Amino acid sequence: MNHQESKSIRIQTERSQNKEHSTPLYLTSSFVFDTVEDLKAAFAEENDAYIYSRYSNPNTNEFIDKMCSLEKTEAGFATASGMASVFASLITFLSAGDHVISCASVFGATHTILHKYFPKWGISYSYFDANHPEEIEKLIKPNTKIIFLETPTNPAIEVIDLALVGKLAKKYNLLFIVDNCFATPILQRPVEYGADLVIHSATKYIDGQGRVLGGCMLGKKELIHEIYLFSRVSGPALSPFNAWVLSKSIETLALRVERHCSNALFVAENIEGHAALDFVRYPFLKSHPHYTIAQKQMSAGGGIITFSLKGGYEAGKTFMNKLRMIKISPNLGDSRTIATHPASSTHCKLSEEERVKTGITPGLIRISVGLENKQDILDDILQAL
Ligand SMILES: *Cc1c(COP(=O)(O)O)cnc(C)c1O
Repeated sequence: MNHQESKSIRIQTERSQNKEHSTPLYLTSSFVFDTVEDLKAAFAEENDAYIYSRYSNPNTNEFIDKMCSLEKTEAGFATASGMASVFASLITFLSAGDHVISCASVFGATHTILHKYFPKWGISYSYFDANHPEEIEKLIKPNTKIIFLETPTNPAIEVIDLALVGKLAKKYNLLFIVDNCFATPILQRPVEYGADLVIHSATKYIDGQGRVLGGCMLGKKELIHEIYLFSRVSGPALSPFNAWVLSKSIETLALRVERHCSNALFVAENIEGHAALDFVRYPFLKSHPHYTIAQKQMSAGGGIITFSLKGGYEAGKTFMNKLRMIKISPNLGDSRTIATHPASSTHCKLSEEERVKTGITPGLIRISVGLENKQDILDDILQAL
């Protein structure tokens, strides 16, 4: 029996005799058994009794149940960070000799796993260009096992056609994994386009208030059971406290995402065409190269916008230092607006050529638009420009 199977009824049953309205925090590493036979039955997976919080815990289960109902998946497993989910979802299903297809502009840490660590274990990868997902077909080899992508991408804000990739994955019988961190299930549900597994960095919009790290993998029962068996022994488990925070946060997710999106669209529309900028990129701006796909698969444009300063690298740094209300921080998805300058921070170790390949111009600025008054956000950006 799967400990993290979606059972909405369970959310009800995890309250004590006090019938708390807010779910209690189960800050316990293990659980007790009345008899040795009870413990044996639990280990034999004859029931779904809690054993040890590395396997499952009432708070992580509540978090997973809620994520499953949002992403319309059967089951899930929660991890201590988004990267723990990225890694576990890949390594559970890969063996030496296998090949993975991903996108050139995939999240930096995911790229490092594929590029630096997988070759040591005999796993290879190929990248497709986000502008040409149809090229995936040419990259498929007899040993290809997985297509892994995120959309919109971070920080290039490219939108990849999920329906197209989903069809290719099905045709060639490949596992299709989508990192849905930027869109959240409020804007897009990858399983509707054929994704087998959906990954989240819950650190971002799911928490939404910059407090805790967390991640999850969601999908069909059989796949999650494999992930569960791997994670149970390798130990990426989410802490009950973080699960409790994240579970509460989900209750305001839809409201927050709606406001992130309307604020971001307002800012994007009002800075587009500014004399200091080469371009403004936001999925729901008509000028976005993937506007049609974004309209098809997302219900709003998300909370992240990017723009490129004509003055390049130095102009990017000057802009950042002039910001007043908006904070400089590498995080995103927070209730407060955050700015990053990838060329001088998150992507400073790449060569200029590598950066341009992943859509990062020297003057590129990424803004994670928060929940503040939209005019205040716009005014701070305009005075810094
Ligand atoms: C932040 C992020 C991750 C990693 O999540 P952590 O919780 O920081 O480990 C993975 N994918 C995307 C798209 C992200 O933005």
